[in-house]
Amino acid sequence: MKITDVRPWIVTGPPTEPGLPGHAGERLHYVFVQVDTDEGLTGWGEITTYPGLVANRAIAAMLREVRPVLIGHDPARIEAIWHKLFRLFTYMGTRGATTAMISGIDIALWDLRGQALGQPIYELLGGPLRETVPLYVHFAYSDTPEEMARHARGQVDLGARAIKTDPFLAAGRASGALDNTTYVGGGLDPATEQTGVEMIAAVREAVGPQVEILIDAHGLYNVPTAVRLANRLAPYNITWFEEPVPPESYHALRQAREQIPVPMCVGERLHTRFEFVPIFEGRLADFIMPDVTWTGGITELKKIANMAEAYYIPITPHDASGPINILAGAHVSLTVPNFYRLEARRVQFDFYNAFLDEPLVVHDGALHVPRRPGLGLSLNLDYLRAHEVKPG
Ligand SMILES: [Mg+2]
Repeated sequence: MKITDVRPWIVTGPPTEPGLPGHAGERLHYVFVQVDTDEGLTGWGEITTYPGLVANRAIAAMLREVRPVLIGHDPARIEAIWHKLFRLFTYMGTRGATTAMISGIDIALWDLRGQALGQPIYELLGGPLRETVPLYVHFAYSDTPEEMARHARGQVDLGARAIKTDPFLAAGRASGALDNTTYVGGGLDPATEQTGVEMIAAVREAVGPQVEILIDAHGLYNVPTAVRLANRLAPYNITWFEEPVPPESYHALRQAREQIPVPMCVGERLHTRFEFVPIFEGRLADFIMPDVTWTGGITELKKIANMAEAYYIPITPHDASGPINILAGAHVSLTVPNFYRLEARRVQFDFYNAFLDEPLVVHDGALHVPRRPGLGLSLNLDYLRAHEVKPG
């Protein structure tokens, strides 16, 4: 079999649920990768990255440029293609945009391999260790502790057993007093901090003691602020405090780690197994959360998970995008012993199903991975054609 074409699709998604972080009511853009072959099989991957169209158009352009490098290759040579693309960009930088681009292609190649062999991807990765993939989900951001609690309760009533939010981002947006959506100084004003703490107190009260509450700090804080915020939320039984500081400094992460009294999770902004080595060796996290569409695809997620296993650290794949991200992460999640939960936007996959030929199935807060070959689901070409965004 030979690769005959590689094509990026930038696609406008359905309107988001009001209150989704950062883009309430907007229509987000997604990047999918179509890899065609001379035997009529098509594999699908996803990259979808941020910020919005700027990053998605940049990554789509990169895909168009590597198309000639891939045409004519045997798509079954997944490892060889991964290394060829990775080393191709040694001088431009092998992490970040490069690994995101590789991820989209790698996932499509695994989809093709599964289809060619008539097996789901998880069977090619060693077979399943569990029947379903437990999820953790977000709930809509809102302005008050009462509304936050109501939205959290809504996801629990739909079957969620673990929920995640960023109360300080919600509180900061509500007050308008502080633009704490990007890191500059890394501080937080006292009023916003207090509202954020009250939001989590209300959420814990609403969901009861059994539901796991995860806090995402989005890498927005300096060390003393992150330490203070984590300490203030600790009384509410927090499962983890995520990305306390920006990703560039392992030293700052260590300082935070030594003073934060709850478990920590990092990794959505780390790329490849190489960037996780300091996390494992430095004991800098209790959970790691590589993103299958950014860190290097199914190939890389499996390797990172195996490395983490040797340190008894659970993986919990990150998801900030769409249906292929969820499916690719789920296939790996089925096959590794050291798995916690897979991230998803909501218990119900309305955002993703618009793109798919069949809906994703979730029961009791866990995803049922399709048993068909490859990823198990295909993208709906009619939807893609109708909502494609042309290059800028
Ligand atoms: Mg996060």
